[in-house]
Amino acid sequence: MEHHDLLAGLIRLHVLHHAADGEIYGQWMIEELGHHGYKLSPGTLYPMLHGMERNGYLSSRKEQIGRTFRRLYRATPLGLEALAIAKARVRELVREVHDPASVDQP
Ligand SMILES: [Zn+2]
Repeated sequence: MEHHDLLAGLIRLHVLHHAADGEIYGQWMIEELGHHGYKLSPGTLYPMLHGMERNGYLSSRKEQIGRTFRRLYRATPLGLEALAIAKARVRELVREVHDPASVDQP
């Protein structure tokens, strides 16, 4: 993915946003991010999901579908807390980016 380092945080927030609403799984998330202009391969998204789980933001369970399994993720209390903080920061950033004059300069 182009500009991966810069956009990775936004993608993680996007994942957290949907995982706060209900369970998500990798392929669904790849399609959802695709609607928002992010082209992610499973090789990029899955390690991201695993990392977020390792850091305590997501928890997961395995669901059996026929002969295969898929892993469902949802936000943990820590994930919800981080999302609330990040949303406030995003709101502030968006305001500054679109209307610099509305933000007090130091
Ligand atoms: Zn979305």
